[in-house]
Amino acid sequence: MEKKINLHLFYMGVVTAIIGIVITTVSYYLFFRSEVKENLTHECQLVAESYRDIFSPKELSRFSGKTFRITLINSRGKVLYESDADAESMTNHLDRPEIIAAIETGSGTDTRLSDTIGIEDYYYALRLDDGNILRVSIQADSIFSLFERSLVIILIIIVVIVIVSMLVSVKLADKLIAPLKRMPEILEKNTSINDTDLYPEVIPLVEEIRNVRNAQSEMRQEFTANVTHELKTPLTSISGYAELIESGMAEGEDCRTFAGKIKNESTRMLTLISDILRLSELDSINDTMLSEEVSLKAVAEDCRDRLLHQAADRGIRITVCGDGCTVKGIRTELDELVYNLVDNAIKYNRENGNIEIIIDDKKLTVSDTGIGIPGESIPRIFERFYRIDKSRSRAKGGTGLGLSIVRHIAERHGARIEVESTVGVGTSISVIF
Ligand code: ADP
Repeated sequence: MEKKINLHLFYMGVVTAIIGIVITTVSYYLFFRSEVKENLTHECQLVAESYRDIFSPKELSRFSGKTFRITLINSRGKVLYESDADAESMTNHLDRPEIIAAIETGSGTDTRLSDTIGIEDYYYALRLDDGNILRVSIQADSIFSLFERSLVIILIIIVVIVIVSMLVSVKLADKLIAPLKRMPEILEKNTSINDTDLYPEVIPLVEEIRNVRNAQSEMRQEFTANVTHELKTPLTSISGYAELIESGMAEGEDCRTFAGKIKNESTRMLTLISDILRLSELDSINDTMLSEEVSLKAVAEDCRDRLLHQAADRGIRITVCGDGCTVKGIRTELDELVYNLVDNAIKYNRENGNIEIIIDDKKLTVSDTGIGIPGESIPRIFERFYRIDKSRSRAKGGTGLGLSIVRHIAERHGARIEVESTVGVGTSISVIF
């Protein structure tokens, strides 16, 4: 950004300077031109005045100096006198605009490019009392030669301007950027925005970043507190049972029961840890290469087969139906998504209930005949560690993270989730790709 501003300021300086030079030179040229014309008119009138007394063309040589050229032409265009050349050898002058104008109106002017490059001829012609035309002309630099002659100066000015613009633009860009450069520091220190020199336009952005940061930090704290709590519960049980065994209070069959409980609690902890790890893994991958064409029906059938025994233990039937479809995605993640939904449909189902996995055009729905979700809880079930009935979830080996993982994976696949549920009747969760 700084480089860009720098460059723009620099270009602005150079372009302004060039425009300035052109305007100055053209104005100078126009002024110079009008001066030349005025002098010429004046000179011609002076010569005409004097000629009235001498009345002899030859005598005109008295007036021609180095600067002015004098010509006398009769009303038919024949040259009677020419100060810079032989009058006899000159062509008829009736085609010259200044002569035509002088014959018709009394005076005429014209400016023509000279044979010499970079020079212009200025003419002023005046009709005399005897009908002859007196013409005075002068040569002057054309605008191009004016430029050419001042080229060295112009180049020097441009070089100076380039250097000055470079220095000024670096300083200016630095000044413009300075408040933005201080943004990280302002964000870090949490200082009041009004005490800073920040531009009003970026204040909403800074506030937004602060809010997001605060929300993130709150979420992180909440998550850490939840994780600690969730890990503490099984660990306390494990430690308690172990203590009982150690103290010798539990004997024989009790010992086996306690060992079984320790095993269950450890398994819970392992599941919890692997869910936490999975979530943080999903958090850290930003862009997903959704390159595979995955058949949702194949994913559903696979999950059904893997969970068949678990469902059969409670007399629950799982059926896969619908026309099926493919989506662009990552097979292992979609497996995980469907597995978590079907796993919940088993956990929160009634004995001998049913589960249907329906796959239609870009939509996968898992329907169960379970306990249902109360309306007010529906928006919260995707939050980390949120469980409607903590003890039930724990008893079923739930971690409260399954649906968070589902939501994460759905988001990564550009899919949205819809939940429909009636308490005591059942729940349908749809993922729409
Ligand atoms: P858990 O590991 O507790 O199942 P989830 O994140 O998978 O965690 O689900 C969060 C909560 O949403 C569950 O504790 C449960 O109360 C509720 N829930 C999820 N799926 C269902 C379902 N199919 N039927 C009823 N309640 C459900």
